[in-house]
Amino acid sequence: MALSRCLKCGTRKPDKYSAYVFPISYPENSALICGLCNNSGVIWLTEEEQEAYRSGQRIFGGDTNVAKFKADEQGINNLIK
Ligand SMILES: [Zn+2]
Repeated sequence: MALSRCLKCGTRKPDKYSAYVFPISYPENSALICGLCNNSGVIWLTEEEQEAYRSGQRIFGGDTNVAKFKADEQGINNLIK
């Protein structure tokens, strides 16, 4: 279950989200917003979702069916611990 947080709020995410990918058109034209503030969000992924991304999956859902997030092709980032 993916999570949308901006890079600032990403420092307060649960530990299971160990890396992130960028949504399409991040940051200027992205429609994905952080769940905690109004900044553009990135898509935080669990280890299992990171493996799915490596296998070609680009659409990830959260813990409800309200919306899904579409990642771009830039790859996995894990700069924030
Ligand atoms: Zn935020």
